[in-house]
Amino acid sequence: MNELSDLVHLVRAFRDAREWGQFHTPRQLAAALAIEAAELQEVLLWRTDAEVEVALGEGAPVRERLAEELGDVLIYAFLLADRLGLEPAAVVRRKLALNEVKYPVDKARGRATKHDALSAE
Ligand SMILES: [Mg+2]
Repeated sequence: MNELSDLVHLVRAFRDAREWGQFHTPRQLAAALAIEAAELQEVLLWRTDAEVEVALGEGAPVRERLAEELGDVLIYAFLLADRLGLEPAAVVRRKLALNEVKYPVDKARGRATKHDALSAE
């Protein structure tokens, strides 16, 4: 067991103790994940980047709210991966490998350009 699989086990135990697995279809979990990601964005809505930096001071309420919403996002991501029979660490490793191909360092370094525009160069 590694720390990530320990977390998945904790999330699964939380769900199972409440018998919520019956509601956790892939469609519902994908929606919940997107909604929690939107709640994460809501914390920062209408603030400039500079205002956000100020608000992120140690112990600031904004930082706490972001941490809570990020926790929700991660929990639903773990639940969705679990429901799909996917191991989160393997999913991340595989996607990073794919992104290595899509975003080669020599073309992508320091640039916020989507992969299809990079490959057209
Ligand atoms: Mg939330």
